[in-house]
Amino acid sequence: MPADYYETLGIDRGADEAEVKKAFRRLARELHPDVNTADPQAEEKFKAAAEAYEVLSDPERRRTYDAFGHDGLRSGGFHSRTESAGGFQDIFEAFFGGGAGGSPFEDLFGRGGSAGPAAGGDVAVRLEIELADVLSGVSREVAFRAVVRCEHCHGNGAEPGTPITTCETCGGAGQVRQATRTPFGQMVRATPCPTCGGDGRIAETPCEVCGGDGAVAQRKTYEVEVPAGIENGQRIRIGGAGHAGEAGAPDGDLYVQVLIADDERFHREGGDLVTVLEVPATIAMLGASMPVETLTGEREVEVEAGVQHGDSIRLKGDGLPSLRSPQHRGDLHVAIKVVTPVNLADEQRELAERLDGTLEERNVPGGAREGLFERVRRAFR
Ligand SMILES: [Zn+2]
Ligand SMILES: [Zn+2]
Repeated sequence: MPADYYETLGIDRGADEAEVKKAFRRLARELHPDVNTADPQAEEKFKAAAEAYEVLSDPERRRTYDAFGHDGLRSGGFHSRTESAGGFQDIFEAFFGGGAGGSPFEDLFGRGGSAGPAAGGDVAVRLEIELADVLSGVSREVAFRAVVRCEHCHGNGAEPGTPITTCETCGGAGQVRQATRTPFGQMVRATPCPTCGGDGRIAETPCEVCGGDGAVAQRKTYEVEVPAGIENGQRIRIGGAGHAGEAGAPDGDLYVQVLIADDERFHREGGDLVTVLEVPATIAMLGASMPVETLTGEREVEVEAGVQHGDSIRLKGDGLPSLRSPQHRGDLHVAIKVVTPVNLADEQRELAERLDGTLEERNVPGGAREGLFERVRRAFR
């Protein structure tokens, strides 16, 4: 049974939204595993605080918790949400920002020890497109949740028309010096001011909309231009479209990872495409015009008499453009798969036997002794 959420955050049951937020911020700064290496329980405590915050910051879930406790949240199906992967990381980053891969605390602690306004975190989203979209590029909307500057207070956290004062604890520096005893002697290090949370300034009356945070989480959309020729898994960076930074600091970036849906008709090799054309053995002997699928529709190709299994026909310019020169398209290689007829009727068998009896040296293809793989390799070169 998890501890009482109010106890975990160290607040009264009557604490308002701003107090809940402030308590979590303080704990998060203290307990984040990247920062607190002294306390082996820091990570567990941090997760507990994040879970408590997730519930108490949501009015509906808080009401459920107040009335029914942890059991109420479980039966409501809420519990799994706080345990889902990335749950607390998400709210954490929403508060403090956090670079892709980097610690969200870098902005607060890592860079030169300055506790200035934190830059906004980056947002990563995935976007799936069709292979045909690679041909000429595509414009797609992505939706994501991001921290945006609070419009009510313009990001300064104070209710409009109320004063903002310099923090008395840190004198506006945003940091306090703390001495700790270590096996190597006394160490002094700067930590963010517990009173103002590193801002150096305090809104006497916190903004009603954002609770003094200067930012709110919101659903955002962005129209992404995916360029022609993009490769599966490539990321598009859109500067400044991520989480809003604190007032005076830059916004984070939006990274859109483009995933290209599998198209079972084609295999992609950079700008070239490979498709397989099944040719009955008799057609392979006689030759014929056959339909082949391309990215832009069906097209007739001439299968020449005597074509061999593993041969390929190159359709120049029916591949994909390259990212660097979108006007140049690669080729479509039509790989021939000779299919041998099965379940022959007596009459068919007789015909095949008669044909077999007539075959002579000149019917053997010149490249017959050449390895199949060598022929395939040569065809795609
Ligand atoms: Zn506000
Ligand atoms: Zn302060």
